[in-house]
Amino acid sequence: MNEKLLARSGGKCELCRNDTEVVVYNVPPDDRSDNEIAVCQSLLAQIEGQEPLNAEDWRFLPEAMWSEVPAVQVLAWRMLNRLKGESWAADALDILYLDEDTLAWAEAVAAPEEPGEVVVHKDAFGNILQNGDSVVLTKTLDVKGSSISAKLGTVVRNIRLVEDNPEQIEGRVEGQQIVILTKFLRKQG
Ligand SMILES: [Zn+2]
Repeated sequence: MNEKLLARSGGKCELCRNDTEVVVYNVPPDDRSDNEIAVCQSLLAQIEGQEPLNAEDWRFLPEAMWSEVPAVQVLAWRMLNRLKGESWAADALDILYLDEDTLAWAEAVAAPEEPGEVVVHKDAFGNILQNGDSVVLTKTLDVKGSSISAKLGTVVRNIRLVEDNPEQIEGRVEGQQIVILTKFLRKQG
């Protein structure tokens, strides 16, 4: 950390004011000389999208956004935008004023993708299902568009989880691959 930054920050995170594991962060893009700030590691992981955003960790923003340091203003603005589903963040964003140059800087970089929700398939009893499992139907199912009736108690082996839909799996019944709702089955064994 250079002397100027050390003097300005006092060695503390310029966002939450903690002094543990404080590192230098260059608020992107990297084409500015005034984009260095001191920030703590735990917030940095959320800033960079390595950790899911936890709104409670950012409750200091409505105060920190009034920093006189443009790089801090930019980061506060970006984080408030990512958090604006929270009413306190939306309120803070409403009253935050950035001058034209600083606003252009803030808008120059798109927010990182938030880490996606992990899709977990569970049977009717909450047991976690995996590809290759065997399941038992807990209800007789009529299969749309076919004469197949998948009876209560039918065992379906070697199921496939339907990606991105935790409520569906695929399995073979009477020689046909069908989609079955997880709420109508129980994991076997
Ligand atoms: Zn911090």
